[in-house]
Parts: sequence; C-alpha cells; structure tokens
Amino acid sequence: MEKQWGVYIHIPFCRQKCFYCDFPSFAGRERYESDYIDALCREMAVQGALYRGKWGRPATVYMGGGTPSILPFELMEKLLQKLQAVFGISEKSGQNHGKPLEFTVECNPGTIAPAYLKMLHEHGVNRLSFGVQTFDDALLKRIGRIHTGAQAGEAMNLAREAGFQNVSMDLIYGLPGETQAMLLYDLETMISLQPEHISIYGLQLEEGTAFAKMQAMGKLHLPDEDAVEKMYDTMTSFLPQHGYARYEISNFAKPGFESRHNLSYWQDVPYLGLGAAAHSYLEGQRYENEKEISLYIEGIRSGKSVRHEEEPATRAITMEEFAFLALRTAQGIDKRHFAEKFGVPLEKIYGDALKKLERQGLLTEDGDFVHLTEFGMKYGNAAFEEFLL
Ligand code: SF4
Repeated sequence: MEKQWGVYIHIPFCRQKCFYCDFPSFAGRERYESDYIDALCREMAVQGALYRGKWGRPATVYMGGGTPSILPFELMEKLLQKLQAVFGISEKSGQNHGKPLEFTVECNPGTIAPAYLKMLHEHGVNRLSFGVQTFDDALLKRIGRIHTGAQAGEAMNLAREAGFQNVSMDLIYGLPGETQAMLLYDLETMISLQPEHISIYGLQLEEGTAFAKMQAMGKLHLPDEDAVEKMYDTMTSFLPQHGYARYEISNFAKPGFESRHNLSYWQDVPYLGLGAAAHSYLEGQRYENEKEISLYIEGIRSGKSVRHEEEPATRAITMEEFAFLALRTAQGIDKRHFAEKFGVPLEKIYGDALKKLERQGLLTEDGDFVHLTEFGMKYGNAAFEEFLL
C-alpha cells in the first residue's frame, strides 16, 4: 500500500564547528568519509528497501547534517546513485517514477562549485537549503561560520544557473553584537536574492557549545531581551510584507513552496532516518541511530543493528507530542486527525486548555483546526505548557 512517508539522511561532517551548534556534526573527521558513505549505502540498501517495499516510494528525501556539500564529488555521486536505485528516483530532477518528489540537500555557501550543483540536480535533487545565517562578514566570523556574505549571494546565482527553482535560506537573529539595523540589512539582502523559502531562528545557547562556554566566562555579548523581541517583531512583519507567508513558527515561504519534508515532521508522518545519529519515526515508535561515526560504521559492517529504540512513549506523551508539533504550524491541530488517532475528541482531553488559551488570545479555532494566533506564536511556550498532560 502506498503511504506518505519521508527519508532523512545524515551527513555528520563539517569543516569547522560553528560556535552555536549542538547538532551531531564534527570537524576534522574527513578520514571517515569514504567508509561512512559505504556504511550509509549498505544501511540504505537494507532499511530503505524494506520500507519502500512496505509503503512504496517516499514523498520527500532530505539530506542534512552536518554539511552534505563538503562530501567530495565522487562520494556524493555514489550516495545519490544509491538513493536513486533504492528509492526509484529518476534522473529528471524531482521525479519519483512520475510522482513529484521533494528532494532537499543542505549546502554551506562556502563549499559549493557549479559542477557540484549540476551533479546534484542531475541526480534528482530539486531543492537546496543554504545555511546563510547572516550576510555580515564580521558576524559570520564571530559565530564560527566559514563562508562570507558575498559567497551566500553567489551561491544563489550558482543554484539558479544549475537549474534549481526551489531554494531555501536560513537566517539566525539575536547574534552577538547584532543590532536592529544589521537584522534589517540581512532581511533586505535575503529578499533581494528571492529564495522561495526562508527559515529564521533566534539564537539559542545550547549546552556544550563554544558560545555556552563563552557565556559562562562572561565573554559573550548578546543583544538584551527587549532588543531580541524587537528583532522578532521586525522579521515577523517584514517577511509577510514581502510575499513570504509564515506557515510554521520559524518558517516562511512563497505560496506553494512550504517544505513538505518539514511539514511531515509536524503532521505525524513517518520517516526513516539513515546515517549516524539519524532519528526515525516508524509505526508510532521513535528511534535514534548510533551517534558516534566510527561505531556506526563498525555496526553496519558487522551486521549489527545501529538503530536504538527510544523509550516507548506513553499515550499521554504521544498526545502531547502530537499537539506540540501540530501547534508549531499555521494550520494547527487537525481535530479530526486527533480523534482518529487517539479515539477521543481533542476537546475531551484539552477542553480546559483550549478555553483558557482562547480567552488569553493565544489560540483560535477554525473549522476542524485549532491554531496559535500571531500573539500565540510569539509566546508559544505559554501555550505549549497548557498542553502538558
Ligand atoms: S555548518 Fe551547520 S552543522 Fe556544521 S557546525 Fe555549522 S551549524 Fe553545525
């Protein structure tokens, strides 16, 4: 039976670790790249083929990291050929045996060349996601990025020349020393490049990052809360005024260019994660692959399972997760889907929370959906707390 599902592929290599990053990605591990791609291809041949057999072809494929675009040309080509063979993706960009497929690869603007982008496109990749973060060179340096603002602009030109008509760019606001004027410059520069999709995040200080250490030593000078709030207001009014509708707390798109892969995470769609540290959500169970690159490679070589079951979620946790994830989207919680999945109406479980949040102006009902208001998106945490059972 054909079913909607997605594939995530993790490439854990980066040229340099950005100071704010706590993703499972590593600098200085190039020696593992070739063995890693071998292992990934083997995992794909077994797990990918298994789920393709069960559910048909995936609707979306997303290759993230890390920095997929630092893989050497030959290794990326080998990986893409395997993907095409296992999932039946044709060379005509974006076709999955006649079905449109969303196939995204994350790229660092400092690590791409025209021939590389052309090769991605020729192997069916039809969406690129560039980690731009800011166009200000001094800020880029301050956060540990390897590219420049000019390279980000050039990356967009190269993407268009290679044939990509669906490009996403990421921005971060609230960076050390950033001002309103700098954010406005970033937003203006970004829309002058006309990406189809923009993801924008407030800087978070994550444990174990270089920034967290600097903060503990009093060496990190971040904009204060009021300034960050003003930046949030600037970006949430600026982007819709320039044709980008907000379809999720941190994501904006031109009409029809919402990321189908990301939407599936928020809409309870299953996905298979391949590669070290990749997460999967299959038949109601969440899994995480072995994180350490060398152990992942060894595990695959010796035929051992590298996928660990996360603790089975209780019914209450599953309901909370369902609500939290759906509430991130502009569409919100689908009441019919909730009732079908849990056999009980949403109001029966969350009636008091819904009433309270509506009174506070954080939430609103719209036919079969309940969703956060603009005010609710800004103060999402207060709303999410009410959904804890
Ligand atoms: S390039 Fe991306 S994944 Fe790699 S360290 Fe920087 S933020 Fe993290």
